[in-house]
Amino acid sequence: MKNYIKETVDLKAGAEVILKGWVHVYRRMGKLGFIDLRDSTGIIQVVCVPDEMTQGADILDDVRSEFVVSIKGVIQERGVKQQREDQLTGKIEILAKELEILSESETPPFEIVNEERQANEELRLKYRYLDLRHERMAKNMNLRHQVIKNFREQFYALDFKEIETPYLSKSTPEGARDFLVPSRNYPGKFYALPQSPQQYKQMLMVAGLEKYFQVVRCFRDEDQRGDRQAEFTQIDVERSFVDQEEIINMLEAIMIKMVEVVAPDKKIMSVPFPRLTYKEAMEKYQSDKPDLRKNKEDKDELAFAWVVDFPMFEYKEGDERWGAVHHPFTAFDQADLAKVEAGDLGEIKAKQYDLVLNGSEIAGGSIRTHSAEILAKVFKALGHSEEEVQSQFGHLLEAFKYGVPPHGGIAIGLDRLLMILAGEDSIREVMAFPKTSDNRDPLMDSPSDVSKAQLDELHLSLKK
Ligand code: ASP
Repeated sequence: MKNYIKETVDLKAGAEVILKGWVHVYRRMGKLGFIDLRDSTGIIQVVCVPDEMTQGADILDDVRSEFVVSIKGVIQERGVKQQREDQLTGKIEILAKELEILSESETPPFEIVNEERQANEELRLKYRYLDLRHERMAKNMNLRHQVIKNFREQFYALDFKEIETPYLSKSTPEGARDFLVPSRNYPGKFYALPQSPQQYKQMLMVAGLEKYFQVVRCFRDEDQRGDRQAEFTQIDVERSFVDQEEIINMLEAIMIKMVEVVAPDKKIMSVPFPRLTYKEAMEKYQSDKPDLRKNKEDKDELAFAWVVDFPMFEYKEGDERWGAVHHPFTAFDQADLAKVEAGDLGEIKAKQYDLVLNGSEIAGGSIRTHSAEILAKVFKALGHSEEEVQSQFGHLLEAFKYGVPPHGGIAIGLDRLLMILAGEDSIREVMAFPKTSDNRDPLMDSPSDVSKAQLDELHLSLKK
């Protein structure tokens, strides 16, 4: 068993400890060796005085940065002049009794003690396991863990059930391009990776679960940008017997509490969060995700705001057809049903709500249409043929025939939220193993070739 470095500050001078970790910095001064030892909980100075050591004095010349070592030693107070107030362990150090090298390290391709952005991103991603040793990246990973933990705890406390939904799913035209997975058992057929668990979570409501959430991966085959990755994480939520007001209030309270616990140094600009209609946001800020910070340089300021009353449909210029602004499952005012039937889609308001933070959309959701009949009319208005509707959404329409509760939900874009909390410019900085901006993974070297035998099994052949 080892002691963790953060525990040393609670121990008295003279206490014996066994520390195991990485050599962060190593200095020799004459016969002495000074190791700044790093583990997942902190850094502490270890003083190696050969005369004081019963084991390992002979290997003091061999130690290098990033070696993994085990040190048995005793805690001692540092001389007053050597004390460092700004460091957790700055008042103490370890006097080594035994030193053992557990594994050696080659010189890393970039320095771990120095600013990580010294290296280009390609190299950082190729050696991501070293990049994650940097203090800032380790902090970001810890923040990610803390935020997920906090959300989970809050949803558990509210009696939400955490349910997983399939990743091998079905291609449905929901917005972005699907990632397809060829089926071995069914030649010519494909699974699709879900763009979100939207239809599954709605069917869980039909199943009677009432309160669902999930920390879930979503896949969209889009070109990447600073705040987009093909694979990203949502905190996905759905609830039965709720209206828009209840979802908004619930999520707002959860967000405020999360910030209080996980990022207490941040200042939320106004509580309750301001609410803007889509029209107001567009008129006043020319954006449906306005940045309401007073001082945009200040990374500690959090300006949350809700945007509501989105249009239900928009004309997609590129595709020359009407589409849903959020998704077709979103509810609208029943008074507008006649317009939907008539294909007059321009002026209909959706029961959709987006949460924006410092100019980014960090959550979005809606109350759903829970009538199979109305949903079928929406699909028809969007130009889907009867057969398309049956093959792509038939399962949901069928489910809605068996007692579907009114329901609604929301999904938090976890990576974007973390990017803002961490004060980063890219979501790649808050993901453990992101892809490059052109969709590659330099660490595993993917995407990669596969064998002819694998392709044959999948009934695939490559175009020349
Ligand atoms: N599934 C939706 C999305 O990914 C969120 C929701 O409507 O709950 O944006």
